[in-house]
Amino acid sequence: MTNMACNINRVRQRLADAARAADRSPAAITLVAVSKTRSAACIREAFAAGLHDYGENYLQEALEKIAELADLDIRWHFIGPIQSNKTRAIAEHFHWVHTIDRLKVAERLSAQRPAHLGPIDVCIQVNIDAEDSKSGVSPAALPALAEAVVALPNLRFRGLMTIPAPAANSETQRTSFFYLAQLLANLRTLSPALASLDTLSMGMSDDLEAAVLEGATLVRVGTALFGARPKPGDNPHNTNAENPS
Ligand SMILES: *Cc1c(COP(=O)(O)O)cnc(C)c1O
Repeated sequence: MTNMACNINRVRQRLADAARAADRSPAAITLVAVSKTRSAACIREAFAAGLHDYGENYLQEALEKIAELADLDIRWHFIGPIQSNKTRAIAEHFHWVHTIDRLKVAERLSAQRPAHLGPIDVCIQVNIDAEDSKSGVSPAALPALAEAVVALPNLRFRGLMTIPAPAANSETQRTSFFYLAQLLANLRTLSPALASLDTLSMGMSDDLEAAVLEGATLVRVGTALFGARPKPGDNPHNTNAENPS
């Protein structure tokens, strides 16, 4: 078995174990492979091994891979911060957007979504730890944004996404994810249009068990599938960086 297939099996086993512990069906949890910085060839190999959902953070990089992999039936998820001048390309090329954090971006995505593609699935990103450095709407501002987003015609508002602050232990991880699940449950009671929200996009390589235990329906996993990402500034072609001669 290839390394890639091994990693995929290992992540699937972790998801299955966590689902069993939570008395949930593993089929209710979609594994989104986070493929930022990975090559199209790498995605092709993962697709052959059974992964059909990919998450990308950087638009230009993503568009190149989407074009190169057009022959594959991939569901593309945009999971990075969204600049409002980039919404058109996102609306045209992605199936899901997890990182809606303001109405302007949602309105532009709805207006720019090509009719023949049907509505685009979206989540609102919530900044549950109130970290200044992070994108996402505050829990206090969430209900108003949700009511506005669900009214947009070419979006299908599905639920919430978060990236919690790194936590020292699984109890703290679970507290963050429990909070997001509570926010979703609360939104569902606000209006009939919000009652069908069904998505919690939460959990990454280091905390996917905690997320599944608290109800994640979509986990976003990079490192555990593909290995460590090159750090920004690393030059993969310069193998002599430590030893300049
Ligand atoms: C990079 C990234 C991930 C994947 O993180 P890993 O720790 O590599 O699994 C998940 N979600 C978002 C939004 C990311 O940017």
